[in-house]
Amino acid sequence: MRRVPRHLFVEPALVNRAYDDDPLPIGAKQTISQPYIVGYMLQALELKGTERVLEIGTGSAYQTALLAELCANVFSVEKLHELAVQARARLDELCYYNVAIHMGDGTLGWSEHAPYDAIVVAAGAPGIPAPLSQQLAAGGRLIIPIGDDQSQTLKLTVRTPTGLEETNLGGCRFVKLLGRYGWQG
Ligand code: SAH
Repeated sequence: MRRVPRHLFVEPALVNRAYDDDPLPIGAKQTISQPYIVGYMLQALELKGTERVLEIGTGSAYQTALLAELCANVFSVEKLHELAVQARARLDELCYYNVAIHMGDGTLGWSEHAPYDAIVVAAGAPGIPAPLSQQLAAGGRLIIPIGDDQSQTLKLTVRTPTGLEETNLGGCRFVKLLGRYGWQG
């Protein structure tokens, strides 16, 4: 987290708050996540550096840049065009060349590059989108906030030889995951 300059991922007017442990608006009614929860989720992925990781909800691309530091390849899906374009420009400027960004509905995953060793969803869903668990590799770890639009529980799902194992990692609050296997509006 020391290596990724968070002030380059927020709007110029909010630069003086970039290192507070708070979410901040990034436009399009979305937020850059609170650093604490980003750190907590990335820690729970237990990355070693060789993984291919799918991220849903690129947003500001702050978590994307952290993932790029922690694994081999990041595949990130963002629904909103303006955020996806801005994310690409930021990551290029910071020379994160191991990140591919796709604009589309992340509840469908990104089947072209599946399976993934880890999947992290940065928006709250009513349930685990089936395509995401299907795109999880053997031994893979999926982290997603599940709940209503007020509060969610962070759920870790691991694909073990005997099936999917779920653990609750605590409460959190994210913006809505919109899409076919997410919220409808
Ligand atoms: N980790 C990001 C979080 C951004 S907020 C950051 O710290 O900046 C969540 C993001 O998920 C928003 O950018 C929103 O547009 C996006 N999102 C919501 N539903 C989505 C979907 N179905 N597919 C892809 N992105 C989605």
